[in-house]
Amino acid sequence: MKSKILRGTALEGQIRIFIADTTNLVEKAKEIHQTSPVATAALGRVLTATSILGVMLKGERDKITTRIHGQGPIGTIIATSNASGNVKGYVTNPQVIVASSIPGKLNVGEAVGKNGEITVIKDLGLKNPYIGNYPLVSGEIGEDLAAYFMHSEQQPSAVGLGVTIDTDYTIKSAGGFILQILPDTDENVAFILEERIKEAGSISKLIENSRNGKEIMDQLLEGLNPKVLEEYEVDYICDCNRNRFEKALISLGKQEIRSLIEDDHGAELQCHFCNKKYHFGEEDLESLMAEAFNTHIKA
Ligand SMILES: [Zn+2]
Repeated sequence: MKSKILRGTALEGQIRIFIADTTNLVEKAKEIHQTSPVATAALGRVLTATSILGVMLKGERDKITTRIHGQGPIGTIIATSNASGNVKGYVTNPQVIVASSIPGKLNVGEAVGKNGEITVIKDLGLKNPYIGNYPLVSGEIGEDLAAYFMHSEQQPSAVGLGVTIDTDYTIKSAGGFILQILPDTDENVAFILEERIKEAGSISKLIENSRNGKEIMDQLLEGLNPKVLEEYEVDYICDCNRNRFEKALISLGKQEIRSLIEDDHGAELQCHFCNKKYHFGEEDLESLMAEAFNTHIKA
């Protein structure tokens, strides 16, 4: 079953709704990065949130990156999405293991740690990207993103993100929701929503029970007249190519490439997002130098 994001609205447009089932997408990320259960959960939450943020983008060529950096053992978590919600990401230490005080519950907060920040980078095709950040609240990702929305974008939001892993380490369910209330909405609405979200429990449980986004939306927003506006199929997709790595090599500068040729007799670069390797032999590097720096290859 493909991963999906449902975009909807409630209370005649006063509430914006996004509900994502990213079970398949998170499974793909786990296979690529061979992540430990807690790293799968942490990366899965960030991928889910970023995919939703991607769907929120207005321009077709816009891109969004979420970076979570705390003092915990997982290191940094990065995910990037385009406007279709197709996403890719990685963590610094995919094999991280942390103890959990609650049996069966993965301790994402401990793996991420606190004393860090969430950074959101929006590339809207302008000269400079828009960069916003906010200190981490708990390292559990959902709360951190809600705090970011509230303080950096002045947008009251409820964010739920969850990944449940089966005993054989496959993904039982993964997904999330982002609900946003327009600033002039009646305060009671925020209160009702808060209660409803508490009652509903974890989003990964909701998805485990129903793979139908519309049903989950109806449950969370019962009585608030929810409507589906659009449904998007999303996936884990890496769009890397050789040209991008050629540019990265050129940016190292002449001397560095010369030493790669003479000392290392070539270079092998690996994509962080999909682990694909790109090999550049001595001749490849020589012709790259010739092209980039207009130097002539000595006979
Ligand atoms: Zn790649």
